[in-house]
Amino acid sequence: MLILRQPGARRRARQLPRMRSDKTMTTVYLLHFDRPIGTTGKGAAQHYLGSTENLKRRLHRHRTGYSGSCIVRAFHALGIGFVVARTWEDPDRSRERNMKRNHHIGRACPICREIARNNR
Ligand SMILES: [Zn+2]
Repeated sequence: MLILRQPGARRRARQLPRMRSDKTMTTVYLLHFDRPIGTTGKGAAQHYLGSTENLKRRLHRHRTGYSGSCIVRAFHALGIGFVVARTWEDPDRSRERNMKRNHHIGRACPICREIARNNR
């Protein structure tokens, strides 16, 4: 089958700005906890990677212990605070999936990178 393209259609499409809707904008956020829990060393958990369409509300839930995440509740129960190390806009959540799959969470944390640099 012969597909006819309008001349210049492809170029025009590329020049269009990407459509963004604030309503569905997903933010991926990385929480760095003040100290790790669990086993010491590499298996220790000190981060949480989540995504939300309302970061302010989600962080409030994490801080008050009302959180859908088991690990964040565990930190909260131990009185361990956290800081938001980093956020990304992630419209299709591909970054979140990738980072979780590849266990890049600690490496993506600017706080841990800074600590590692100072310990060198
Ligand atoms: Zn960290």
